[in-house]
Amino acid sequence: MDNCIFCKIIQKQAFADIVYEDPNLIAIIPLEQASKGHTLLITKEHIENLFDIDEETLQIVAVGVKKLTKKLVYENKPTGINLLHASGKDAQQSVFHFHIHLVPRYKNDGLDLWIRNKL
Ligand SMILES: [Zn+2]
Repeated sequence: MDNCIFCKIIQKQAFADIVYEDPNLIAIIPLEQASKGHTLLITKEHIENLFDIDEETLQIVAVGVKKLTKKLVYENKPTGINLLHASGKDAQQSVFHFHIHLVPRYKNDGLDLWIRNKL
């Protein structure tokens, strides 16, 4: 995809702080970090979101989440972690290339990412 920033990063045509890479996945530090170690796990294939990802790739993503979690625990010693994902404009997806945020959490870190009842 010509105008996709994640595709450009994967093709090394745009800079990013790459912290993990394998044949299917890449992980980068986002420009805006919610917490120390906040990481984006991205499929190398340009897949828009959950609506079009295939099950095999989603399994690869899940294994990648676990690998990155181990890395984050080793490096930053978080006491918790949140996974954030958006599929679709109305879910606040901003880059239309599949990615998951791993947000390490720490005691008294001041973040509140939990869901509040709106109904
Ligand atoms: Zn892309």
